[in-house]
Amino acid sequence: MAITFKVLGHAKGDNALWVRVDEGDSVSHYLFDCGANTVGALSMSQTLDIRHVFFSHFHMDHICGFDEYFRRVYAREEDNVLWGPPGSAEILHHRLRGYSWNLVSDCPARWSLREVQPVRAADSPHALCVLSRDYAAADGFQRCDLAPAQFSDAGVLLDAPGHTIESIALKHHGISLAYLIREKPRKNIDMTALSAHGLRPGPWLQALKDDSQNGDVAVGGTSYSLERLRELAVRESPGQSVAYVTDFLLDAETHERLVAWLSGCDVLVCEGQYLHQDLELAHRNHHATATLVGRLARDAGVGELVLFHLSERYTREEWLALRDECRAQFARAKFPADWVAEIEG
Ligand SMILES: [Zn+2]
Ligand SMILES: [Zn+2]
Repeated sequence: MAITFKVLGHAKGDNALWVRVDEGDSVSHYLFDCGANTVGALSMSQTLDIRHVFFSHFHMDHICGFDEYFRRVYAREEDNVLWGPPGSAEILHHRLRGYSWNLVSDCPARWSLREVQPVRAADSPHALCVLSRDYAAADGFQRCDLAPAQFSDAGVLLDAPGHTIESIALKHHGISLAYLIREKPRKNIDMTALSAHGLRPGPWLQALKDDSQNGDVAVGGTSYSLERLRELAVRESPGQSVAYVTDFLLDAETHERLVAWLSGCDVLVCEGQYLHQDLELAHRNHHATATLVGRLARDAGVGELVLFHLSERYTREEWLALRDECRAQFARAKFPADWVAEIEG
């Protein structure tokens, strides 16, 4: 799998999700939320590699560890991007401003705060708009540069050469953003098909994989149409996908929207807050229950479900009961592997 991930933090405590996407010629690292004592699990170089932090929302358990991250990376020159729901730019700007910045006049760092706004559009249920405010460390993050709003009908926030990051807004006494990291379909060359037609591999294979190139290429002194060669030898296989979904009211309408959005996702990392016996409390607090999350994973046809962000109201035995309750709906539900010792004792 070219996407690897790790749930940071412990079963009893705040969490975050670290994701690494390896595209062969480049590697991207992302952090989703930033609870207390989560970033410390990463090495300094792993932390410096994270250019984008995506916040679901700003209840304290999702941002308490931000200082730990920011302290390590604040002076980094560029590509420092913080994403969050409506209202996030103001909250994050206070975080950036909340220090004495009297020794940074030569610091080249710039930070971009990106607010994700859902857009109501009858024919594009995932449409959203991103409003960016950019700040410089050198003036203590005072002056704001506004960037033009960016719209995406498909809900895509970030479009890298080999993967995308999409978002959808969920209800959580306000908005909690869910995120989906999706590799683009992989293109493989069928070498057997090429040799069956007497075509020898060469630098022209790069042109074959690059959809922006069209026209003809020379292979062994003969000219061939790239379109024809693609039909003959390029095979597409689906990429991997990992979703991060937490702190949300899982009512019937949200279930339906998420089933469509998560359809076929390989890994769903999802909150495991409440036992279904506490459904009323879960609804009141805009959270999900293990049974509802299991049904969601089942109906969306995901590959596996990783339960994290457990409620501290329960004992370890109750957490195991919560997992089993979820497994009654969806068998491939589990806790992060390194939590098993902490939970099972
Ligand atoms: Zn919350
Ligand atoms: Zn929370």
